[in-house]
Amino acid sequence: QKNHTFKPVNVATHCPYCAFQCGIHLKGSREQAKVAGNATFPVNQGGLCIKGWTAPATLSHPDRLLTPLARQASGAFLPITWDEALSRIVQAFQEEQRRYGPHAVGIFGGGSLTNEKAYLLGKFARVALGTEHIDYNGRFCMSSAAAASIRAFGIDRGLPFPIEDVAHAEVILLIGSNIAETMPPMMQYIDQQQNRGGRLITVDPRTSTTARASALHLRLMPGTDAALANGLLHILIRDGLIDQNYIRTRTDDFDQIKAVAATYWPERVERITGVPEKQLVQAARMLGSARSAMILTARGVEQQSQGVNNTLAYINVALALGLMGRPYSGYGCLTGQGNGQGGREHGQKADQLPGYRKIDDPIAREHISQVWGIQESDLPGPGKSAYEMLTSIGQDNGIRSLLVMGSNIAVSVPDALHIEEKLKQLDFLVVADFFLSETAKLADIVLPVTQWAEEEGTMTNLEGRVILRKRAFDPPPGVRTEIDVLCELAWRMGKGQYFSFTDARQVFDELRQASAGGTADYSGITYERIEEQQGVFWPCPSEDHPGTPRLFQETFPTPTGRARFTVVKHAAPAEEPDADYPLYLTTGRVLTHYQSGSQTRRVGRLHDMMEEPFVEIHPSTARHYRLANGDLVKLSTRRGSIVLKVKVTRSIREDTIFVPFHWGGHLSVNRLTNPALDPTSRMPEFKICAVRIEPVEHA
Ligand code: SF4
Repeated sequence: QKNHTFKPVNVATHCPYCAFQCGIHLKGSREQAKVAGNATFPVNQGGLCIKGWTAPATLSHPDRLLTPLARQASGAFLPITWDEALSRIVQAFQEEQRRYGPHAVGIFGGGSLTNEKAYLLGKFARVALGTEHIDYNGRFCMSSAAAASIRAFGIDRGLPFPIEDVAHAEVILLIGSNIAETMPPMMQYIDQQQNRGGRLITVDPRTSTTARASALHLRLMPGTDAALANGLLHILIRDGLIDQNYIRTRTDDFDQIKAVAATYWPERVERITGVPEKQLVQAARMLGSARSAMILTARGVEQQSQGVNNTLAYINVALALGLMGRPYSGYGCLTGQGNGQGGREHGQKADQLPGYRKIDDPIAREHISQVWGIQESDLPGPGKSAYEMLTSIGQDNGIRSLLVMGSNIAVSVPDALHIEEKLKQLDFLVVADFFLSETAKLADIVLPVTQWAEEEGTMTNLEGRVILRKRAFDPPPGVRTEIDVLCELAWRMGKGQYFSFTDARQVFDELRQASAGGTADYSGITYERIEEQQGVFWPCPSEDHPGTPRLFQETFPTPTGRARFTVVKHAAPAEEPDADYPLYLTTGRVLTHYQSGSQTRRVGRLHDMMEEPFVEIHPSTARHYRLANGDLVKLSTRRGSIVLKVKVTRSIREDTIFVPFHWGGHLSVNRLTNPALDPTSRMPEFKICAVRIEPVEHA
């Protein structure tokens, strides 16, 4: 990108972290930048969390990478020039592909990348490298909800309504999400909803901060979501609270699930889930008697080996109640990563092409080939999903080299130690990042790239609203954008004619063409419109189209135009407690940190607020193991062990322990988590595994 000179600024842009993409004003100079909430941006309305307030600290952080690095035989990194770094990458990838074929090189992207970068990364994989292996960390985030939504509604947009509708819903059923810590500005809508007399029901094995703010908390046993949802459906049908007219006119296959729901009578569901029958009935009646209701799921439901079925079971409830398309109602998934939504629409997913098209759809392939100016036959097919791509390392036909952008794999994968060993087996690993993350430390070449306030680009938030991040500061000397890097690599690989982009805006213009006619149609969205309208909701098929804040008002984009019910039965998680590993382990986020923590652990104020992870243990469990607050305890699963400090709290079930996942190395709870995959979404079971605990002195 062109290097402009910027004086002290006052720029309206967006927080670099979660899918809420709060509007901020960024003021001052790079070194002393200050953040203020943007009161006119309709999503956060001025509200921010502590992560947003402190976001500028990463821009001029002393750990910032300012030059490419090459790992020496000794393991130490030495600075090298960009020319040398790019030459070595091209040479290594081309040699690898010459010897082992095009699919020997893989790409791992991220849900934090802008739409333009995600799009270009997908194109780079398929056109410059010709590999089918590209996937991204969103596979570990909301892929189960995405698959379920496509199955049920024919389309996957996190929320099919603007976030402001939340304030008007009479009842909200929130499952597997602790928004009070993960998206605090969303709580203003919950407050408004409650002030209007609305009620919040939470479903969570933990009495989280959000659960404490709810009218009813269903503290289910981990891994029993489908049974709980089927139990709700059973009561709704039994008590005549379903919307027969909606079911008849707007859905298919209800009769099939009716018979299954009949077998989830409340006493049985109480036995499976641990949720008292009385609470189950109370929740069903709240939902069934409301004029408007929302069912919102997040990672607690989705990061399971039954994640798609769990989500479909809650969608069945939403459809039976006739919520989709009704005012202030519907089912939605609360996406996690900053561009978790856009990141899954533009082709960095193993099975997708831009516009949320399927890569094995002949019409989609023809369209994208034309936009890219290549032969359809040169477009690779579907590749391996994220975890499977990583486990293929060291196997026949596995990937042998990897380019990572926007992801800290070494911390964010399940069974992390095993994957760390796999990454070490690669012939060649390239990581683009702005800090030396745990993954970058394993790389052969590290490329220093720009941060959020140093470049333009669009993001798509959890509502499907496309927003524009603005460039406030020059990047530090020595740092380049991923767009520059991909284009330069492509030129050096002899594919430059397909990568003649000098800035993000040009990439976006091609992305618009590529998405035209697809599910996620951005063709009518321009940077100018985004600025004028405070974001534009896709689908937006032409420049005079207003965008689509609310979906499903009349029809669903399925072959019949109707939504689909799906038969779902309760199935146990892949691993359940037994004599050797007698407790459940579940994981999640805390207020002060974000995802793998590579950024927030470096922000002094956030680090000071929470320096290290902990393990939440119920008082009676703690007594049983003779543990007290602050004691060290060894947690072991079939995959590994870590030692953490105990936090005794009644907020967790007696049969379950909870650990936040923002730390790496010997503090990484993902060294323990189970990589069992959902058969459809290929989502690992981060949320449940069996664990043993031992006081450290006895370990
Ligand atoms: Fe808003 Fe999320 Fe940033 Fe917090 S982390 S300020 S909720 S975008």
